Amino acid sequence: FDDRDGTIWHDGEMIPWRDSKVHVLSHALHYGSSVFEGIRVYGGKIFKLTEHSQRLVESAKILGFKIPYTVEEIDAATQKVVDENNIVDGYIRPVAWRGSEMMGVSAQKNTIHLAIAAWEWPSYFDPEARMKGIRLDNAIYRRPNPETAPSRSKAAGLYMICTLSKHAAEDRGYHDAMMLDWRGQVAEATGANIFFVNKAGEIHTPTPDCFLDGITRRTVIGLAKDRGYKIVERVIMPDELGDFEECFLTGTAAEVTPVAEIGEYKFTPGDISRQLVEDYDRTVRGQALEKVNVA
Ligand code: PMP
Repeated sequence: FDDRDGTIWHDGEMIPWRDSKVHVLSHALHYGSSVFEGIRVYGGKIFKLTEHSQRLVESAKILGFKIPYTVEEIDAATQKVVDENNIVDGYIRPVAWRGSEMMGVSAQKNTIHLAIAAWEWPSYFDPEARMKGIRLDNAIYRRPNPETAPSRSKAAGLYMICTLSKHAAEDRGYHDAMMLDWRGQVAEATGANIFFVNKAGEIHTPTPDCFLDGITRRTVIGLAKDRGYKIVERVIMPDELGDFEECFLTGTAAEVTPVAEIGEYKFTPGDISRQLVEDYDRTVRGQALEKVNVA
């Protein structure tokens, strides 16, 4: 990914893509002191930019460091990256990290860096392909207790268990994995939130008390409510999965992705998943939703 044309915003300057480097003694590399975002651009417009910039600043704060730019400055820098690289349908990756002045667990004096890169990454909107649903394995790691890890931060270090779980799932022929939390409750996928639809047509999703309350998750909850669906946020145990008819994931990269299988449980992506796949697509492309009759 490092050998390509384009420019990256790096500590306040636009520099050639290939020149955006970090020192090997960066604290972030040794001790995981870095936070990041994943943002989509649709038709040249950045979706929920300020929400992402705010979460980046908050993620850093949770890890005890302050990004030396305001949310407004981060918004402007992100827009500049998209504009200068002529991104129409793409993905943006802001990352903030502790630098290399001090080496050791303590890094109080280290400079805080920020870089923002963006690249073309079209979202192939084909509802029929999506409706086949993806297959999830049971993850080999669990989301940690918030007393064990700063679980509300989008911190790079927390992705170690996601990468290991996703690799194990891929090695077994699955697309992704469903992670439980430390209590054994259903939590999320390795990079997306999870929702279920029961026989009564209600949408159930785990309460986000130890994983990200995703920006897409909140958007989709709003869309479902606009359609008159009942949303229930609650504790969901893995042995309840057989009670659900539909399942889907939400996330900036995943958008709304129906799920066909989780381990031994099968789901049939249906009307509610399709509706939300389409509503989400219309929303990100900035089209007004048709007026719906809410029962
Ligand atoms: N959980 C995890 C672990 C993630 O990496 C993501 C993607 N950022 C999400 C949930 C969904 O968050 P969002 O909808 O804000 O992209």
